[in-house]
Parts: sequence; C-alpha cells; structure tokens
Amino acid sequence: MLIDTHCHLTYEGLFENQHEVLARAAAAGVGRLITVGTDVPDHAKVLSLLRSHPQVFGALGIHPHHASEVEDGYERFLENRIRSEKKILALGECGLDYHYQFAPKLLQRGVFLNQLEMARRIDIPVILHVREAHPDALSVMQDFPELKFVVHCFTGTPAECKSWLKLGAYIGITGIVTYKNAKDVQDAAKLVPPDRLLVETDAPYLSPEPVRKIKTNEPAHVAHTARFLADLRGASFDELRVQTTANAARLFGEKLLAT
Ligand SMILES: [Zn+2]
Ligand SMILES: [Zn+2]
Repeated sequence: MLIDTHCHLTYEGLFENQHEVLARAAAAGVGRLITVGTDVPDHAKVLSLLRSHPQVFGALGIHPHHASEVEDGYERFLENRIRSEKKILALGECGLDYHYQFAPKLLQRGVFLNQLEMARRIDIPVILHVREAHPDALSVMQDFPELKFVVHCFTGTPAECKSWLKLGAYIGITGIVTYKNAKDVQDAAKLVPPDRLLVETDAPYLSPEPVRKIKTNEPAHVAHTARFLADLRGASFDELRVQTTANAARLFGEKLLAT
C-alpha cells in the first residue's frame, strides 16, 4: 500500500468528485490519504470527509497564505477541533511562505509560532509548509526540539535538506521531483535516509510526470512519484512503498494503518 501523506480533497476539482477520486486512488494502491485543512472554513470540510471515508485521515492548521485572516480566539477553536477528532493525525499545514507573501512575514511568524506551541501542548506531529523561507523556518524549529514534523513538498536546496534532517525532520516529496528542471529537489531526495522519506501529491496541484498535463492532480498519481523516486534512489518500488508507509505510520501514528 502507498499513502498520500498530503493532499487537499476539500479543494475544487476533488471535493465534488470525491467518490471517483477515492476509487481511482484505491485502484492505484493508495490505501490511505491525509487531507490537509488550510483555514477555518476548510477545516469543516476536512471533518466531513473523515466521517464519510474510512481511508481518509486529516490534519488541521492555518496555512501561511491565510495567516492574516485569522480571528481572535482561533487557537482555542483549532485546538478543540484537533483534540476532539481521533482521525486528525497532525497539526498543519503551517509555516512560512515568502514566495507569495499573501500575509506579511511577521504575521506569518506569529501564527506559525502559535501553532507550534499548540502542537507541543497537544503532543501531535506537525506538517510544515516552507517556501523560500528555509533559513527562518529552520531557526524557528530549533526552539521546538520535541516536535515530530515533516517538511512537506520540499523545494529547498540539498544543503537546506541536510539542515532539516539534522533537526530530525521527515521530508515530503511531491511530483515536482519528476520535473526535468527540478535538479535541486532530485539531489535532495537522493540524500534523505530511507527512514525519513514521505511521498505526497499536494493534489489538486503539481501533477507528476507522465501525467503532468492533467490539470487536477489526485491521490492516485502519488504512485508515479513513488516509482520515479525508487528509480532515482536505486531502490525497488516495493522497498520504497514499504519504507514510506512505515515512515508515515511512525510519524502520524499507527492508527493510520488500522482498518
Ligand atoms: Zn503546502
Ligand atoms: Zn498543501
């Protein structure tokens, strides 16, 4: 079995087609999915999906793109939602995104820190979104050595990848690794130890080769990324599948694999 450790089933293109999308995922051997909520309205849709589909698990967080939209008291609201739903396995995605900067840097940092403190209180792993902000995010995470976390959709340099690995991070690899021009991501993916590697789609975005032309990516396509990664790392597809599934269960908890 493969696990898509990061997708957005609540987003347009996937949510309205959830039954077909999940059937295609199952047919491709993708037996578990983690759908990631990115703002408060999105969280309600995540919870509805978890309740409808046994193979779907979730994470709830405030994405840095939405950091300037949070209202007073959001921390308590978010914490209650995470604590009261057993199928929420992580806090996130949260982090820093300096590529778009939909929210000012300082505001992103505050909302990020609030969520890391929350994760420490709840004792739950964290899904980090870091884009063009690796030095700042690395220095923030140095103050949270007890947190287990994944740097999802890794797009940094091999040197940044090494710094994350030193902090104990898991590294999430998307379809970007299959793109011809993604030399840095490929080099980084090669140096991740077998016990720290995760695969994900980040669907509906980032369709991997050879289905890159399909505009709406979906969890079934994580198999293409896994195949490419196995070749890149000189492993068999089966080895990669077994390793990444074990890693996901170690990070997010064994209940991910419970039937
Ligand atoms: Zn992200
Ligand atoms: Zn995402």
